[in-house]
Amino acid sequence: MKRSMHKLAQLDHQYVWHPFTQMRDWLKEEPIVLTEAKGAVLRDIKGKEYLDANSSIWTNLHGHNHPAINRALKKQLGKLSHSSALGFANEPASLLAERLISSVKLRRGIRGNPRLTKVFFSDNGSTALEVALKLSYESTRRTRPGIKPRFLGIDGAYHGDTVGAVSVGHIDLFHKAYSGLLFQSQKVMAPYCYRCPFNKAKPERADARSYRKCRFECIDKVESAFDKAKKKSQPITSFLYEPLMQGAAGFIPQPKTWLRQAAEIARAHGAQLIADEVMTGFGRCNEGTDRLFASHQEGVQPDFLCLAKGLSGGYLPMAATLTTKKVFDAFLGEYEELKSFFHGHSFTGNQLGASASLASLELLSQTCTSNARQSLQQTLASEIKNLWSLPQVGDIRQTGNVVGIELVRDWRTRAPYPLPEQAGIRVCRALAKRGVLTRPVGSVIVLMPPYCTTMRQARTMVSSLGEAITEALG
Ligand code: PMP
Repeated sequence: MKRSMHKLAQLDHQYVWHPFTQMRDWLKEEPIVLTEAKGAVLRDIKGKEYLDANSSIWTNLHGHNHPAINRALKKQLGKLSHSSALGFANEPASLLAERLISSVKLRRGIRGNPRLTKVFFSDNGSTALEVALKLSYESTRRTRPGIKPRFLGIDGAYHGDTVGAVSVGHIDLFHKAYSGLLFQSQKVMAPYCYRCPFNKAKPERADARSYRKCRFECIDKVESAFDKAKKKSQPITSFLYEPLMQGAAGFIPQPKTWLRQAAEIARAHGAQLIADEVMTGFGRCNEGTDRLFASHQEGVQPDFLCLAKGLSGGYLPMAATLTTKKVFDAFLGEYEELKSFFHGHSFTGNQLGASASLASLELLSQTCTSNARQSLQQTLASEIKNLWSLPQVGDIRQTGNVVGIELVRDWRTRAPYPLPEQAGIRVCRALAKRGVLTRPVGSVIVLMPPYCTTMRQARTMVSSLGEAITEALG
């Protein structure tokens, strides 16, 4: 431990184990200790300021220290911070459930879209998924007797780190070690245009979706996964997806209509749809509309809508799984039939989390937020064009306010950087020196700033990223 290090950094080194981190590397450098923030700016213990270019791991929507969310929290603090949902209702959770149900209404869309009418609260993205998995499993067993529930997901999927969520995850790096602990689930290829074996197009200096040459074989693969399972009399009963953009898979965007087509196939086979909108929810991926959910952009209403991260504006661990009357009804019965959903968390329906969430949803409904969201999207779109001049940039993909920039060793061949080179980590380190914070997913750099980010701040994020790429990968 270095003596010159700040006391708090020393304590961190001595006691804290960080997530998804090689701690041997972590312990070699003094960590940034963040202590204050306002809007899109974070400040560390030494007074250095940073732009929060990934919304503090994809959570923050309206900026830090937001007066409206602070006000709501202070008001609730003066009343009651937490009471149990086991046996009791509470004010903010009831109001939030109503607000969520009215904000997920979808009038038009694909055939067979259900109505979402019930909310089950939990604490984080992984638990929101666990709830959906268990409800889907058990409601299938109860409504389709004799059929074993089977889950189909997308290659590269990430749905959280609890054992159920890992079972439906498809990132070997994170999940393989635990295969002995997991239940079986199937996967289908991701529509990853930039690295798709069916895409015949040579690399261009544009988002690979815009110049792809294929026959949408990725959709045939979805169809054949369902067909094969049906032929074997082992039908897929739940189709699980991150809509429009897969996050931890490497910010893999879906070409237009992919989700709609995949959902139509799943519905035709009688499968339930589970939408993981933990990252995409609350307008992150919606383009040019006031819609708040990525699934709705494609006219799809799932049977389970999983929300977390941005639900509370990124303030508190708060999550929700929305579902249908049909699923809810499958758990109704006489007490002694033991049909209750035997699942819950101590902090289910937490009053502070629910208050922050209500304040965040109120902000999202305001025209100024919607305008800010759309102008940020446009600023990002025009600024990121400048990055195409860098030879290390292979693909730039933007969906709404989310941008993934894939770095490659040679853009003409799409040759990737080998993992040990830590290209993404090195670029993010160079970026932090310039006062911009984000975290890579492998060699993909993520820009996902809060909606309050000013045009100037967005420009700084992108231009600093350009400099950081050149410095780190020369
Ligand atoms: N689903 C998706 C799409 C996510 O991006 C994440 C977190 N990155 C999760 C689930 C898990 O959320 P949490 O970390 O809150 O458990």
